[in-house]
Amino acid sequence: MTAELRHDWTLPQLRALHDTPLLDLVFRAATVHRQFHDPREMQVSKLISIKTGACPEDCSYCAQSSRYSTGVGAERLMEQGKVVEIAARAKAAGVSRVCLGAAWRSVKDNDQFDRVLGMVRGVTDMGLEVCCTLGMLTESQAKKLEDAGLYAYNHNVDSSAEFYETIITTRTYADRLDTLANVRKTNVTMCSGGIIGLGESVDDRLKMLQTLSAIRPHPESVPINILSKVEGTPMAENADVPVWDVIRMIATTRLVMPKSDVRLTAGRVTLDESAQAMCFLAGANSIFSSETEFMLTKAVPSPSYDADKVLLDALGMTMRAPFTNHHSTRAAELSGRGPDPTEAVEVPFCDRKGAVCAVGAVG
Ligand code: SAM
Ligand code: SF4
Repeated sequence: MTAELRHDWTLPQLRALHDTPLLDLVFRAATVHRQFHDPREMQVSKLISIKTGACPEDCSYCAQSSRYSTGVGAERLMEQGKVVEIAARAKAAGVSRVCLGAAWRSVKDNDQFDRVLGMVRGVTDMGLEVCCTLGMLTESQAKKLEDAGLYAYNHNVDSSAEFYETIITTRTYADRLDTLANVRKTNVTMCSGGIIGLGESVDDRLKMLQTLSAIRPHPESVPINILSKVEGTPMAENADVPVWDVIRMIATTRLVMPKSDVRLTAGRVTLDESAQAMCFLAGANSIFSSETEFMLTKAVPSPSYDADKVLLDALGMTMRAPFTNHHSTRAAELSGRGPDPTEAVEVPFCDRKGAVCAVGAVG
């Protein structure tokens, strides 16, 4: 079995893949994962909320929307010194990427953005990958972030286009894709995925994967969040996502976007160690970890650095060093290696620690 970098998945094909008996699906995903990634490596990120709360958007799942009473208050933009302090502790804990999140609808060309550019420079200079998630971006803002050294930009499509408009009314799916297109005009890598547990159907999940896999090249990083139910939001009482759905979604994502990092993100704290290990077997190779045991805000809990160290040690896994994703053109550029030789589908092999990356067909 080999995997192809496809951009033309049809819904019936995705459905057939997704509905494969679970252990067969996991076996296939694990096989493809090993063709493209070192299965003993985990990419670990730390989120820092540089601007918390009072967001004008109405995303029905979010603790930071000003429309809902969630107990998350508004805070001013964090000082760069504090960001660097948190990043230094993250680096000491083995984290390779720091993600700076702002509860903004879009980036404005003002002194606050200039301060964010300073943070990007400061944390990049510490030898860490920096990701930003700041809302909508113009092309020139994406370019400024690239010039400051930004490694990745996160902007999730969250679900299918149809379902999206039932959970967020203050912006459109097309707005989301426009920002992703602006990121693709730079060498900043793209991080985009979604959430399961919003009340969407399986087809909505698969249409989301269809949208993401149509992007050329595929987003370098694809977060799969499990809804973290936040009191005060319209989704506070949503049904739990069965663990089997999570594993199925991770495995399908791995098969559909074989080269991308698949990130098991929000909601990981609800999975016990065995379920997390099953997700890692199915191809999840990226997680968020946190000294404070929460992600952006207290409303979304996260496993701690210590708990993750114990888990990774027990599984014989190590934390990936910054700028060593052998599939990332940006990493290659930053390390002076030049463009990623495995980027083109025509190149059938890539050599990494003796592993062979073959390119063929999943089916
Ligand atoms: N304001 C920016 C934006 O929306 O792009 C960045 C911050 S936002 C918190 C980043 C992502 O976190 C969202 O796109 C969503 O996918 C995820 N997220 C937010 N709240 C969540 C929750 N309660 N459960 C799971 N994922 C969540
Ligand atoms: Fe605002 Fe982002 Fe939360 Fe939506 S997900 S309410 S845009 S912070």
